[in-house]
This record gives sequence, structure tokens and C-alpha cells, in this order.
Amino acid sequence: MPASARCAAVNAHCTDGVELKVSAPQASQGSLILAVVRSQKPLREVTGKWNERDVYFWEGGSTTAAHRSTHNYVNEALLGVDLEKAPGDYEFSVSATMGNGEHVGCTAALTVRAGKFATESLTVQKQFVEPNEQQAQRAVAEQEKLRQIFDHITPEKLWHGPFRPPLSGGVRGTNFGKRRILNGQPRSPHTGADFPAPTGTPIHATQSGRVVLAEELYFSGNTVIIDHGLGIYSLYGHLSATDVAVGDSVKAGAVIGKVGATGRVTGPHLHWGVTVNKARVNPIQLVAETVIR
Ligand SMILES: [Zn+2]
Repeated sequence: MPASARCAAVNAHCTDGVELKVSAPQASQGSLILAVVRSQKPLREVTGKWNERDVYFWEGGSTTAAHRSTHNYVNEALLGVDLEKAPGDYEFSVSATMGNGEHVGCTAALTVRAGKFATESLTVQKQFVEPNEQQAQRAVAEQEKLRQIFDHITPEKLWHGPFRPPLSGGVRGTNFGKRRILNGQPRSPHTGADFPAPTGTPIHATQSGRVVLAEELYFSGNTVIIDHGLGIYSLYGHLSATDVAVGDSVKAGAVIGKVGATGRVTGPHLHWGVTVNKARVNPIQLVAETVIR
């Protein structure tokens, strides 16, 4: 589907010769927004600002007939709305340079709305809820390691084509954003989607990229993280077996491991998470709603 068909007009202010459209001017927490910049002339150094972070654009190819005569040049970027981003109006800005050195750009207001997430209250034994001191220290160190991974932006686009679900056979992932209240205390929301599947089910890379983590973590058990470039990372948790190592380049659909029940789980399933420029977003949207290539 061409980008223009998915992108609503947004109340953007742009320099002459440039236009900006986004897939969702009103986006809910945990969602993805595709931003499309079209221009009459080729642009260089197209960057955006969202969430106080730089947004990296790639050159899009999908020019529609309606635009072909005027706005020939397409640059696209993916914006993530973090699962816990406070609802409100936020500015998204884009700047670029034309061949003659002239600076151009756009600004737009994007509205973030509260997401609709399920809440689950559980009463469980204390030793299950509270990690011991050693486990807690380990978990904190691992969180820091993940934070550093997601903070790094690889400037190249390492993927080509659409993203695919990590399990074959139409298994549906659920529970993204679910709020858990354990013994009356609110816990961190669920940052990914859970795919129930038997132990040993092959897990596929959602897209090509480079493996940046393949190890056992306290919460997510055997975990693989793939860097797809431009700030997009996918995470696969609770694996029974891992078939890749840090530094491996993987192709879209490659088997990277098998479903399991390692880490803090009650049964075998795949936990799949996607982070876009540090924003924790619903991974299902990456394959279902926002068609990026
Ligand atoms: Zn999960």
C-alpha cells in the first residue's frame, strides 16, 4: 500500500515545496506513527525531533501518481509513542537541506491519548513477587544494559521490506500494555506482546538486522535482541534455545531460537517487544497497521 493511502493530513506548517503527513495525528500510548515527508526537490540530512530525541528518516520509494508531477521525493520515519508517555499535545519537527544548501522543514502538533490497557490484579506469594537482594541487583544491572542498547542508534537502515510476526501460523500476541497489580501494588506495565506456543516452536526474526544481545536475563530468561537500524529494536524473551550470537547478521524470517519458559513465567510463550527510538510500542502494530518497508 502506498504511504499516502495510510497517511492522514496533519496540521503541519512546512516550508514551500515540502509537505508532511503522519499516519495518526492522534495517537495513543504505545502506538507507532509513520511520518512521510514529500518534497519537490531531493532533500539531504532529513532529521526530525520527537520525544526530545532525533528521528532518523529513510528514503521512501512509494510515490503515487497524484504526487508524481510535483512532490517526487519521499522520506519516511517511524515515531514511537512510549507506553507511558503522558497524554497531551507534543511538537514534532522535521528539518532538511536542499541541494542548493537552503534549509527547509515542517512542524506539526501530535496528540497523545491514553491507551486502553487491561488491568489484572493478582495475589501471589511474596517470594514470587519480590526478588531476593542478589536477584534484584542482577535485574537492575540488566535493565541498565538494555537501556544502553536501546539508547544507541545505528544510522543505517538494516531492514528491507515488511516486518513479519515472529511465529508462523497466525498465532496472535496479546496483553501489550497490560497493567499488573500484584498484592495491591502496581507494577510496570507489560511492554510487549505474549504469544502462547508450545516449547520448541521456532521463532523468526521479524526483519533483518544485527543481533546485539543473546543471553539469559532475570526477567525475560533467554533473550535475543535484534537491531534493525534507525533506532528500531525487536526483543524475543523466554526462549528454550537460542540459535544466534551477538554480532550475527540475520535475515528476515531467519530462525533465531525456540519458544520456552525461561525467566519469570508461568508457562511457555514468546514475549515479543519492539522499541523505536527508546519508546516501548505495541509490536503487533509493526506488522499489522503501520506498513513500513
Ligand atoms: Zn510478556
